[in-house]
Amino acid sequence: MTDAFEPKQFGAIAVDFDGTLCENRFPEIGEPKPLVIAFVRQQVAKGARIILHTCRENGARRALLDEAVAWCAAREIPIHAVNENPDSAFPELYGTGAAGRKVYADLYIDDKAISAADIEQCMKDAAIIARHGDDNGISAADIKQCMEVAASICRRGPARDCRDPPA
Ligand SMILES: [Mg+2]
Repeated sequence: MTDAFEPKQFGAIAVDFDGTLCENRFPEIGEPKPLVIAFVRQQVAKGARIILHTCRENGARRALLDEAVAWCAAREIPIHAVNENPDSAFPELYGTGAAGRKVYADLYIDDKAISAADIEQCMKDAAIIARHGDDNGISAADIKQCMEVAASICRRGPARDCRDPPA
């Protein structure tokens, strides 16, 4: 009998590097983020496979991708694939490499990610506030939560270029 409260098991988890496994100091590598790393290790112990999902590339001046992979290995962060699917269900159709396709995962962990569900909730909350104002049955905590989510979306801005940095 399964425990209804047992966390969901993930088959494949795509994990970003800069800002996710480590603080974002691109092109340098920032300090490790121990709680994210602990979560990744925990999921691997439960059977998940980890796809390092990063924009880092090996450029002419620096092997930024190789540096990230080596950094993970030195910290015993299990990586089963890099920017590709380790277990493609249809390799004859799609191959196993990235080839411009989105990496498939059951979970994506990325410092710049927000789930569709979070956006939907934020937009619904904002619509409720717009209709009813802030003193009509909505708690101050709910309003604060909605505003924080909206602010976090606005703060993200455009992604940084993670290719070989200028000299
Ligand atoms: Mg990132």
